[in-house]
Formats: sequence, structure tokens, C-alpha cells
Amino acid sequence: MVLSIKKYPEKILRRKAEPVEKITNDLIVLIDNMIETMLAEDGLGLAANQVGVLKRIFIINTSLDKKNPEPLVVINPEIIFKDEKEFIEEEGCLSFPELYLKISRPEKVKIQAVDNYNRSYVLDVSGILAKAVMHEIDHLNGTLFIDNVRPEDRPILEKYLEGLKIEK
Ligand code: ZN
Repeated sequence: MVLSIKKYPEKILRRKAEPVEKITNDLIVLIDNMIETMLAEDGLGLAANQVGVLKRIFIINTSLDKKNPEPLVVINPEIIFKDEKEFIEEEGCLSFPELYLKISRPEKVKIQAVDNYNRSYVLDVSGILAKAVMHEIDHLNGTLFIDNVRPEDRPILEKYLEGLKIEK
């Protein structure tokens, strides 16, 4: 089932998600729906907050290819390594349709997480995937990519927010 995506400024996007203690059948259904939703919306990643659930779960498409997706389920992620080196590339978010900002992220990231079978794994990624992982972990902490806007891109953001008629 394709879920509806919470759009900025819905308050749940600013709340911190809670760790998953047990992978229940309800969570498995949620995860399946999140995968379906991410693919239907052509996203590279989707965090549970974005579908209204405050659990530390996100999905990323590790193939970076919409036609041959390889969704990875990330539950209770912990960052174990973060590169000092920056990777600055354009970023979008399903909660901010049509907004693209160049955001600085670590070039490489290593995280530890569990999958939907409660199997622990380490994910070692760089470039676009490292960016996606950091973007989604931010979601779980109630942080949004607009919080990391670079000064030179602030006018783009201001114009976008004006379009949404939101008080800043
Ligand atoms: Zn996002």
C-alpha cells in the first residue's frame, strides 16, 4: 500500500523517532508499505517519520536505479564512522516537493543497523548513498535538510518557504 507522505511543515517531521524494540508483524507491514511508497514516489530514501510513524526505521534504494531497485531496510542505525571529507551535491526530500539544495555531507559513512529479520549488519557507503544515509538519519532525529542549507542557497530556500506561505 502506498502511504501518504507528510509534507513540511507537518510537526511530526520535527520529532525524534524512538528505537525499535521488537520487529512486530505491524512493523513488517509498515516496512513493506514504506518500500512501496518510496518506489512509487521515485525517492532514494524514506524515513518512518515521513509516513507518520516515530520509529527509527528508514529505507534506501542502494542500487540508485528506479528500474532495478534494491531497497535496504535500516532499523536503529548507529553511525560508527563519518568522514571529515565533504561531499557537496544536490539533495531533495519527498517531504519538500520541488525543492533541491546542495548540502554538504560526509564523503563516507559507516553505520551499524539491523534489517527486518533483526539481523545486525554494517553498511559502508560513500557519495550519494552516504548522503542518503545521513539525510535519513537526520529525519529520525527530527532534523531536516533545510537545516543544513549553505548560505549561498538560502535565497532558494526562502523563496520556496514563501511559496508555502509559512512563517519562518
Ligand atoms: Zn527527506
